[in-house]
Amino acid sequence: MAWFNMAKITTFKAGYCTHIACMAMRGAGLKVCQFPARAWLIEIDGYRWLWDTGYADYFNQYTQTGIFKLYQKTTPVYLNKGESLKEQFDSLGIDLASIQNIIISHFHGDHIAGLKDFIHSKFICSQEGWQTVKYLRGFNALRQGFVPDLLPIDFEKRVSFLEQFEKCELAPELAPFTFGYILPHSKKQIILVPLPGHAVGHIGAFILTDCGWTLLASDAAWVKANYKELKKPSRLAHLIMSDSKSYYQTLKQIHQLSYHPDVTIYLSHEGEE
Ligand SMILES: [Zn+2]
Repeated sequence: MAWFNMAKITTFKAGYCTHIACMAMRGAGLKVCQFPARAWLIEIDGYRWLWDTGYADYFNQYTQTGIFKLYQKTTPVYLNKGESLKEQFDSLGIDLASIQNIIISHFHGDHIAGLKDFIHSKFICSQEGWQTVKYLRGFNALRQGFVPDLLPIDFEKRVSFLEQFEKCELAPELAPFTFGYILPHSKKQIILVPLPGHAVGHIGAFILTDCGWTLLASDAAWVKANYKELKKPSRLAHLIMSDSKSYYQTLKQIHQLSYHPDVTIYLSHEGEE
């Protein structure tokens, strides 16, 4: 038994979008499927982090007009009243001010749409990811799945970068992953790891819980079959990947990791089991 409290992870879903199934996996057909937008609340000894935000009304608000309407067209978003993370937390009695940090896995709209609701939180992301999207506007932003207006105006004052955190070697059972960055205040129970390919600066996290290590793999795969059976997403999906070669390298690493029976892997958009 551990003599200190292990990390606790709670899964939330804030809306979903739809795609045809074969976007996420070649050969899966034209059936329209739901891709939930997940977020995770991570707690250790009263310290709270939020991993991404899922959708929020801001997404619809800022994709009503101009070029960003295309975003709404390619991934129609469904978010009912009460389903944004803020509303869910309000009804669960989770004080938004108690969430010290929001970790941003990458800057796609379905991961950052709720940031403006968390006026008390600091942000953590990859410096490489931020530098890449920071000045993007209009079509160039849209191409990266980035809606600049979703970011709070004082974002840059509130952000810190994982590349500045202490680097560490990972436990041998997490091979072929070898290194990561220790999340401050996490007692080395949360290690942030680069998972390159899906978007520039795309990250995941290894989290030590009572049940062993969990990998929050964000969008490193869309569905379990991507990494379990190495089933590729559609060629169309390549359009939104920042680097398809690294994407498949990352996918292969997760494939190898998945042979380890005690490691749990969560994806942001996989269907409910
Ligand atoms: Zn994404």
